[in-house]
Amino acid sequence: MTGKSSRFPLSLSSVVEKKGKAASGAPARTVVTPQTATRNAALDSGRLAAKAQAARAAQHPAPSSSAGKPATPVSRTALPTPIATANRSAPLVSEAVRKAMVARVAKQGVSDQKVLAAMEAVPRHMFMEPGLSSQAYIDASLPIGHHQTISQPYIVARMIEIMRDNNKGKALERVLEIGTGCGYQAAVLSLVAKEVYSIERIKPLHELAKTNLRPLRIANIRLHYGDGMLGLPQVAPFDGIILAAAGLEVPQALLEQLAIGGRLVAPVGGRQQMLQLIERISKFEWTSETLEECHFVPLRPGTV
Ligand code: SAH
Repeated sequence: MTGKSSRFPLSLSSVVEKKGKAASGAPARTVVTPQTATRNAALDSGRLAAKAQAARAAQHPAPSSSAGKPATPVSRTALPTPIATANRSAPLVSEAVRKAMVARVAKQGVSDQKVLAAMEAVPRHMFMEPGLSSQAYIDASLPIGHHQTISQPYIVARMIEIMRDNNKGKALERVLEIGTGCGYQAAVLSLVAKEVYSIERIKPLHELAKTNLRPLRIANIRLHYGDGMLGLPQVAPFDGIILAAAGLEVPQALLEQLAIGGRLVAPVGGRQQMLQLIERISKFEWTSETLEECHFVPLRPGTV
C-alpha cells in the first residue's frame, strides 16, 4: 500500500520545509485507538504550557485572499486571536515535532506512505488557535471553537488510508469531506486527491477554514458552506467521501454520490461509535464493513 508521492498536486514548500521519508510500517490492521477527544485534550492540556509561550512568538497579519469569495471575519467568540497566523514563522521548530507525530501515527498502524508524507507536509499548528498551537502535534483532538474539534492525527491518517486502499499508489480524482472544521483534514486530503470538496455547516468554522488555508495557497480545495448530509450532487460522483462527524447512519444522499468503486469512510453511532467503510460496487450495490472504535462530534442537519 505504497505510492510514490511524486504527483502531489501542489507544493506546500512556501510554508513548510521539504519533508523526508515518512516512517514505514507493515500493514497492521489490528490497532484500535479510539479518538478520545475530550479526554486526551484534558490530559495533555498544560503539559506543554511552557512551550506555548515560545510558539506564540511571532505573528503577522493574514495574507490576501487566494480565491473565491471575500472572506468574512471569523467569529472571535471562542477564538480570541487570529488562528491562521499562529506560529507561522516557526516552521523549523514544528518540523521535528511533526515528524515525531507522523512516526507515532505509523506506529499505530497507518502504513500508507503517501498519507504519512501528506501528514508530514501539512503544518497542523497553523490550524490551531495560538494558545493550543504548541499541542498541535500531540495525538489528540483539540477544540476549535463552537463545540467542535480538530480531529486526532491518527484518525485523520487512518480514514484517508482506508479511503485510498482500493486505489493503491494512485491519486484519487475527486473526494468529498463532510465537516471541514478548521480545514486541517482538507489540507491533508489535498495532497492525495486531485480535487477536494469540503462542506461545513457552521458558518464561522467555514470562514475559519478559509482563513487557515489561505496562506497555504492550496489550489485544489473547494470549501462549501452547507449541510453536508446532502452532499454536493452538482459535483458528484466522488471517488472518496470522508465524514468527520458521526451520524446514527450514513446519509443516503452521500451513498448515491459515491462513484462506483468509490469508498466512503464514516464514524457511525452515538456515544459508542465505530468507523465504517462503505464501498459502492455497482449502481445499486454497496458493501459495508465495520472497522474500529472511534469518537467524533455528532453529524447534525442544517446550517448555523
Ligand atoms: N475535518 C476537521 C474535523 C472537524 S470536526 C479536521 O480537520 O479536524 C467535525 C465538523 O463537522 C464540525 O466542524 C461540525 O460543525 C461539522 N459538521 C457536523 N455536521 C455537519 C453537516 N451536516 N454538514 C457539514 N458539516 C458538519
